[in-house]
Amino acid sequence: MHQPNHLTNHLTMNPSLELIDIGVNLMHRRFHADREAVILRAQAAGVKTQIITGTSLESSIAAAAYAAERPELYATAGVHPHGAQEVSDLAQLRLRLRELVTQPKVVAIGETGLDFNRDFSPREIQEDVFNAQLELACELHLPLFLHERDAHQRLLEILDRFGKQLPPAVVHCFTGTRAELEAYLERDYYIGITGWICDERHGSHLAELVQFIPADRLMIETDAPFLTPRDLRPKPRGGRNEPAFLPHVLKKVAASLNQSVEQVAAASITTTKRFFRL
Ligand SMILES: [Zn+2]
Repeated sequence: MHQPNHLTNHLTMNPSLELIDIGVNLMHRRFHADREAVILRAQAAGVKTQIITGTSLESSIAAAAYAAERPELYATAGVHPHGAQEVSDLAQLRLRLRELVTQPKVVAIGETGLDFNRDFSPREIQEDVFNAQLELACELHLPLFLHERDAHQRLLEILDRFGKQLPPAVVHCFTGTRAELEAYLERDYYIGITGWICDERHGSHLAELVQFIPADRLMIETDAPFLTPRDLRPKPRGGRNEPAFLPHVLKKVAASLNQSVEQVAAASITTTKRFFRL
């Protein structure tokens, strides 16, 4: 497998900086054949810990079971807006998620939110499934792992209804505007930055915007196997993203902030541990 050696070297110089990828879709079928090798490559690149994103009830159950066996892995439990219409019974969903989050390695509710870009599920159904997960997160006071695409205004309207009840929330894979960023930060939400920041066509504004994210609100993630950084060389086989490429995202964030990689790594690790209570 292609490893970006030129980017991992600086981390091997700092073995104490053990990065945490807050968003890895490790139960995705594209990792079925070599999941263990993917974890080992990530660790060799300095990415010691991964939080596996649960995107459906099925993948959340699989993620929880997989994380339970491995000290360096954690999981979220939730239903992505794309799959909202597959939820046939909201009461049943609450019940199953409630069971899942009793497991010690399940550290957040999500991925949940709204996606009005693809509209894979009807919007009213996305909102119902989102609301059910928000109610549960509020009741159990569990961190929220949020997904939002082209639905900023509506997402805020729904979140604002919960007011001070709302637990800490991270807007994962933030790709929005400065005004959107400020609206999230005003509400004290955390921000997840992916390899989108490396995309010179659509993500260059993020290189400007990261300076407005306080260090104690900034986390980094790959969203693997998706969002392979466009400037990664050599390009990975099959174009698949991996948690081993998190140092590449870190390096871009650090350069954008005009700070050292070590400084940004240390701050994001502290922020991540506090947010997810690792
Ligand atoms: Zn997402």
